[in-house]
Amino acid sequence: MLRIVTLFTLLLSFTTSTMAADKIKVMHLNGQSNKYHSWKGTGDAINQHLKSADIFEVDVVTSPAGGEDMGKFSPKFSDCDVIVLNYDGAEWSEKTKKAFVKYVRNGGGVVTIHGANNSFAYWSEFNEIIGLGGWGGPGLYDPPLYQGEADKQASRNEDWGPRVYWQGCGLVHDDSPGSTKHPPKHDFIITNRTPDHPIMHGLPEMWLQSHDEVYSDLRGPGKNLTILATAYADQKLKNASPHNEPMLFTVSYGKGRVFQTTLGHVGARDDATVLAVRNVGFITTLQRGVEWAATGDVTQAIPEDFPTAYEATVR
Ligand code: ZN
Repeated sequence: MLRIVTLFTLLLSFTTSTMAADKIKVMHLNGQSNKYHSWKGTGDAINQHLKSADIFEVDVVTSPAGGEDMGKFSPKFSDCDVIVLNYDGAEWSEKTKKAFVKYVRNGGGVVTIHGANNSFAYWSEFNEIIGLGGWGGPGLYDPPLYQGEADKQASRNEDWGPRVYWQGCGLVHDDSPGSTKHPPKHDFIITNRTPDHPIMHGLPEMWLQSHDEVYSDLRGPGKNLTILATAYADQKLKNASPHNEPMLFTVSYGKGRVFQTTLGHVGARDDATVLAVRNVGFITTLQRGVEWAATGDVTQAIPEDFPTAYEATVR
């Protein structure tokens, strides 16, 4: 009897470990955001959506809080297939930054969600890795970043590189001056620009995103960038960009794959119930983008409740 039980336990542990080993190892890195966002709210939504995809094994890594000592914060990047960055705050130590760059260069996947691209304005390799970012001025953080460093007080603008948008049949790099901006939250159409890309394959030409921010005039080196989807903001709104702005895009950096979704605003007092992160377009492209950044391919089916151009769907 004892032998049968042992054998059964062995078999069970083997099956469980095989199943776990088959799953994509995700590091969901969070812990800080600027004054306008809630990393907790965004994080709860990310955890739910990654869990429901049932192909990810998620390890949540939370940094020290804003203003606390970052010196010992040193996640083991090399253990995971993809890092989901839901972090916007104080710079990491030189050692941790070096480990992150090495991880991406060697083929690691990275996904940034909405405000995560506001982070690390003064870390040049990070700007190369994410291609484009927004804001990042030290006064947007509590406590303010880069105190006493007079040369690090600006927010992302033309000094960081061009803005990149879609015009005609391709992307345009535009060096004209200006800072990043967005109009107030509203419903807007997302247009699929690269339907052959694994993340976009099978998605409709257009769909509706609910009540979110159209990040506009993001700035950065903008190298090795593929725009997957764009949005054109309601022109009646303040700060509406006159361009088709990139909402979903990829960057290649060394052997690494980077996917950015600029969608998914969760305000400082909001939680994971806000429409921007309940929208099935946001959920589906996040799940597909994380898989692609980890493996270079997408195996997930398009859900039946995917939104259309006329009707947004939320879960
Ligand atoms: Zn936002």
